[in-house]
Amino acid sequence: MARKAVVLCGNAELPDPYLTQILDFFEIPWEGVSLAALFDPRGISTPESYALFSTLPLMGRIWKEGAVSGTLPPLLQRAKSIFLFGGEESQGTDAVLQFLTGGSDARIARLDPGETPCSISDKHVDICGPLSGLRVTVPVRLEFTILANSSTQFERLIWSKEGCLFGVAACRGKQFYLAPSSTLIDVNAPVKKTYFDIADYFLSAVPLVMYLQLTFRGVIPRSADNGACLIVDDPALRTHYGFVDLQRLAILSAEHRFTCSIAFIPWNWNRSRSSAVELFRRHADRLSLSIHGCDHTGGEFAVRNTAVINRQSKLALARMEKHAALTGLPYDRVMIFPQGAFSSASLGVLKHNGFIAAVNTEVSPTDQRRSATVGDVWRLAILKYADFAIYTRRYSFHGVHNFAFDLLLGKPCLIVTHHADFQDGGRDVVDFIDRLNSLPFPLVWRGLGDVVRHAYQQRLREDGTYQIRMWGGEILIPNPAAHTHHFVVEKRERTPEGIERVDVSGRPVAFHLDGGQMRFELEVGPKQAARIRIAYRDTFGAPPKAAWSAQFKVAARRYLSEGRDEAQPLIRWISGKT
Ligand SMILES: [Zn+2]
Repeated sequence: MARKAVVLCGNAELPDPYLTQILDFFEIPWEGVSLAALFDPRGISTPESYALFSTLPLMGRIWKEGAVSGTLPPLLQRAKSIFLFGGEESQGTDAVLQFLTGGSDARIARLDPGETPCSISDKHVDICGPLSGLRVTVPVRLEFTILANSSTQFERLIWSKEGCLFGVAACRGKQFYLAPSSTLIDVNAPVKKTYFDIADYFLSAVPLVMYLQLTFRGVIPRSADNGACLIVDDPALRTHYGFVDLQRLAILSAEHRFTCSIAFIPWNWNRSRSSAVELFRRHADRLSLSIHGCDHTGGEFAVRNTAVINRQSKLALARMEKHAALTGLPYDRVMIFPQGAFSSASLGVLKHNGFIAAVNTEVSPTDQRRSATVGDVWRLAILKYADFAIYTRRYSFHGVHNFAFDLLLGKPCLIVTHHADFQDGGRDVVDFIDRLNSLPFPLVWRGLGDVVRHAYQQRLREDGTYQIRMWGGEILIPNPAAHTHHFVVEKRERTPEGIERVDVSGRPVAFHLDGGQMRFELEVGPKQAARIRIAYRDTFGAPPKAAWSAQFKVAARRYLSEGRDEAQPLIRWISGKT
């Protein structure tokens, strides 16, 4: 394992800015060194335990100038491993490839623009992680491939029919990872679609992220858990809603090992049927409730008027409380926005009303389109807006590769469905869940609130203290060890005056704020767990009541939507008969 990145630069050249941005993103210390360091690594500030990065053309120039003969320069010899990236067609690159792969026919070649199906090795789970064994079709603009047919010391990790797109060569006792894509991803660029699709950036991102996760295992903050949950939007609690058969869903969840959160519309608070409530009670380990808007009008959380959002937030929680009192069913204080629409202002309002996180498919607010960057969505949760966590969820059509890449990054695995996805008795849904469960990366299926409470990062410091980074407003820290552990917890909070108190298992603890971070410390005894909750002030106060006419419109809209969902199985049955 390496602790630092050393980036080789040509004389008077700067390190590749996209590489250094990615190293900064993963919190990997790095240092740029000039060619002089190749033969005299004494200039490096911490010469032990580093990984070396260089572009393939630069390595090619070094080879072409005859600087390297039989043995590797000391800078390469001392590196834990070497990552060579950024291909271009040149004789120097071919010479490097022939030396590293030991194949006299090895060379770099350009891929034809268009798209190409890529295969990922299933023999190197240590590096390919959750993506092992998958196939992904990716767009090709300016991409290169390595042709090394006669090599015996070169293994393919990602390839297409044209050649190798990421591989590892064992040369002179060192591992050289070769990623010939011409560019690296720009993590500061806005996300192009409404969600992040790794296929669009595959060759410029996946090889490097795989390599970093393998090589800097103890440096990159790691997620405590690989939480997963299936979310079904909209159903009212009755045994059948549209194509959703709750009884069957409960059976499937046990048979196929998954959990399911119903994104419950609070407007339905007094309409739950006792049979469905009983089913939820019996399957409390598999079925849970989260909050889906309030009235489920499309834009209720997409407006910029904080008074309106405050009213809807408080009304949603009041209705969920009444539902809990009527049915005895608990719920998670997690907001799932109707139709994915939210404004940048809505997140602060949710935070100050006691929601612990939002879960959403769309990544940017409606009033700041394309404002979420690749870096924002690569984080465990998007924390850009009011420091309130938005955990991203995905449709199955995004493909298993997108869920797998999220897992490689340490993000939870959250799947969104609607009642229509259960038309075939839920077969497509469980087929997809089976594929996720067969990834070489065990998922921990939990209720949605528990996924949020376990979705934090943890790093063991050299002094034996665990450093925890919170994203949502609540976390659970278990200590399975036989002795007490000390934890330092931090969370980004740029408006500290909004914090009322921090509770550890119900008792307030002292915290301090510094440079936009809130920190506090705690001990967790052997085989104990601590539940952390940040309580925020209700800065938005009591809301005005909505007019009767507005409430009437909401009711009309809800009955119409529900009638439409309920009619679909009937329409399908009738059309099947004719
Ligand atoms: Zn909905």
